[in-house]
Amino acid sequence: MLSFYIKSSEETEAELSTSIKRGLSYREVSKRQKDYGENSLKADETFNWWEVLLDQFRDFMVLVLLAATTVSGLLGEYTDAITIIAIVVLNAILGFYQEFKAEKSLQALKELTAPEAKVIRDGEITEIPASEIVPGDIVYLESGDRVPADIRLNKTRNLEIVESSLTGESLPVKKHEDRLSSTPDSIGDINNMAFMGTMVTKGSATGIVTDIGMETEMGQIAHMLADENQQVETPLQKRLANLGKVLVTICLLVCIAVAFLGVLRGEPIYKMFMAGVSLAVAAIPEGLPAVVTIALAVGVQKMMKKNALVRKLPAVETLGCATVICSDKTGTLTTNKMIVDEIYTPLLHYHNNTNNGHSFISSNHKKVSPKKNKDLNLCFQIVALCNNTLYTKEQGIVRGEPTEKALLQAAVDYNITPLSFSDITYLDEIQFDSNRKRMSVFYKDDSNQVVMFVKGAPEVIVPRCKKIITDNKNGELNHKTTENIMQKNEEMANKALRNIAVGYKVISYDDYKNKNEKLEDLENDLIFVGLMGLLDPPREEVKDSILKCKKAGVTPVMITGDHKATAIAIAKKINLFSKNADNKVMDGKELDSLSDRELNQKINNIRVFARVSPKHKLRIVSALKDRGNIVAMTGDGVNDAPAVKSADIGIAMGVTGTDVTKGAAELILADDNFSTIEAAIEEGRGIYDNIRKFIRFLLSCNFGEILTMLFGMLMGLPLPLKPIQILWVNLVTDGLPAIALGVDPKDPDIMKRKPRDPEEGVFSDGLFKTILGRGLLIGLITIFTFYRALELQPDHLDFARTMGFSTLVVSQLIYVFECQSVRSGLSLAKVIKNPQLIMAVIASFMLFCLVVYIEPLAQIFDTHPLNLENWMTILVLSLFPTVFSVIYGKIKDRIF
Ligand code: ATP
Repeated sequence: MLSFYIKSSEETEAELSTSIKRGLSYREVSKRQKDYGENSLKADETFNWWEVLLDQFRDFMVLVLLAATTVSGLLGEYTDAITIIAIVVLNAILGFYQEFKAEKSLQALKELTAPEAKVIRDGEITEIPASEIVPGDIVYLESGDRVPADIRLNKTRNLEIVESSLTGESLPVKKHEDRLSSTPDSIGDINNMAFMGTMVTKGSATGIVTDIGMETEMGQIAHMLADENQQVETPLQKRLANLGKVLVTICLLVCIAVAFLGVLRGEPIYKMFMAGVSLAVAAIPEGLPAVVTIALAVGVQKMMKKNALVRKLPAVETLGCATVICSDKTGTLTTNKMIVDEIYTPLLHYHNNTNNGHSFISSNHKKVSPKKNKDLNLCFQIVALCNNTLYTKEQGIVRGEPTEKALLQAAVDYNITPLSFSDITYLDEIQFDSNRKRMSVFYKDDSNQVVMFVKGAPEVIVPRCKKIITDNKNGELNHKTTENIMQKNEEMANKALRNIAVGYKVISYDDYKNKNEKLEDLENDLIFVGLMGLLDPPREEVKDSILKCKKAGVTPVMITGDHKATAIAIAKKINLFSKNADNKVMDGKELDSLSDRELNQKINNIRVFARVSPKHKLRIVSALKDRGNIVAMTGDGVNDAPAVKSADIGIAMGVTGTDVTKGAAELILADDNFSTIEAAIEEGRGIYDNIRKFIRFLLSCNFGEILTMLFGMLMGLPLPLKPIQILWVNLVTDGLPAIALGVDPKDPDIMKRKPRDPEEGVFSDGLFKTILGRGLLIGLITIFTFYRALELQPDHLDFARTMGFSTLVVSQLIYVFECQSVRSGLSLAKVIKNPQLIMAVIASFMLFCLVVYIEPLAQIFDTHPLNLENWMTILVLSLFPTVFSVIYGKIKDRIF
């Protein structure tokens, strides 16, 4: 880093050949992008294609298989060994391709959720991906932003930045724009620069980018940036990996026992070794891990299409367990397209007469104008001046928070803008924050008087007022007028309006200078001007989503900083309250008065938290979690990040959310919409169901194969299936239908079930019994076919094996359609809905025919061509397990 901190911003501007006012030109930007490259940390690129490829062979199960194959190769079974290795490699390539695609889409997701930056280019403010920034760019920073590069600050407004990622210091650092007189001891003392990767927690600023990418301070320590973005394994993947290990261990023990017993019985060692290898091959569900990864990746993509961006893979599973969704009101349950609908002042009550824009009439139906109506004029002036929306002469309202924008728009519609005041100079401001629930700005006039304009929640502002505006001069605010105002506030809130009180006060310059010490006092004795009621209509689609959630056993809870009455009015409109239920509403004050134990007792009945601030959210999450809930919590502001992080499923807003909150979240809503959460829960449940479907399929088949081999050994028969035959089934003919099960459409009743218990195992609900039962049936018919064929043609082992092999494959390909539901059996309606599965079954069958009828393959696989009669026998026998389970199911239903 060049020492820009000891240079003035003008010197920096000159040195970097840029213009603070207009920024760089687009032509210059593209030139610099070529010269300096992309603004990213190389360490971020954790994704390597060859690592993914290597990973395919790192799997424990695959390793065991390769070891066994090597031994069989050493024992002289070259063809078998080579074929097994070829199949393993083919499988690895398929797995690699799928995983590569999956990783790519996750990578794309990462890019989608990557931070953006606001820059001035060619005189206009635009938002661009942070990676496109170049040195010399003029960047605009505000609370909640992640600093996109190293920046020499040029103009700051109460800027505070947390630099813990760089310095380890967790307290925010106050920043300014003045040059430093000497080189500071440590980077933590460079207070006129903002560094890449740090977080703006307060205020705003503009600055000049001095360094990007690996040249930044963060770039120097890039390796320390253990990226929170990393996709960890989901609990299910971990459990399956463990299951794989258990299966392999058990199977190895069984193999050793069987081989040992065989040798004791006088069988040749080589034959027993092959039996062991075959058993190992049969027992290991080789395809399972790959299919799970694919199903998860496909699920993530589906969610992305529905505007839910998954940042951490485990969320896909946890979503299906959610029992409570705590949602912000503004923007998530409502549209966030606000307009000022009513204005009340002690003189008149005004109503907006139009849906698009602002055109007020007074309650006595007289046409109004700010010229005639001084109270209205003052309201507009205050919201134009006490406002941190970015407003420019050329572009009008450029950007800002919806509340701020709506208030300013009302004023702008009456030709009052922040630029209309040439006689006063801006001094400073205390920005709005949800804890203080108010905002104050300070302006100086020609006579050196300081005027403080304040706006905020009526309950906070009105008690701080001492006077009200009257027709000609200011009047005292007595008890009765206060009551009147608060009653009006209540009436407006009952109409779902979000009210903001506005006022002002003249203070001395000395008081202004010492404002930080006695702010609380300074913000007292205000002159009350009026209440501005903002209409923020509920999102239409949310009503349905809330009903769906309730049916699915997921309780939606509204959390809002707004007034109780506003919150209740909206809650009623969106079906949040349930009939016959104890729909409790609690406000921040009450919450503060309760102990943790008391809150725990009450929390399950509360549907609306009103007038709460972000700090309350953390308590709400903990209390809900203590009561055994799986909590999803939304958030947007910096202050929301701790609650979002501590929730089971942290959800950040994609549009209004700050980078800090997005960084803490598992899920990002691209459209900030509550309905997207509901859709994501539905998808999450569907994905989990599908995983269970192919677990049911693959493990039943594996178990069937193990039993076939065991029965064969116990009956003293030759090996019923050769290792490569089993491997062909496990990896090829089973694999395709299993992947197709992974994209099976969701059960129509998926949102009518209660949420899944996260502690519940994958095999819950009788899945294990189903697997064992079906495995047994498959094993029995396969060994029966093999045995009968061998009995009929004792000299034709190849033929008997082919008959057994075919019965195994066909019965599995029929069974896969039963697995389309986790619980029940075959359903034609479901079969039709998944054409991919039908195609996969046809493809699998053709692949199977390949090794039976195509000569060189038939030789390698030791198969024998079958005639029509053989096929009829195979078909009848293969249908047996399905017919049996249908009849068994019917009898069971009758008896129980
Ligand atoms: P939700 O949690 O539903 O999103 P919220 O976050 O909008 O609610 P806050 O932003 O904390 O809630 O707002 C609380 C109250 O503060 C509002 O009811 C309003 O009276 C007031 N308020 C909101 N925004 C501003 C603002 N920009 N300036 C002044 N007062 C505001």
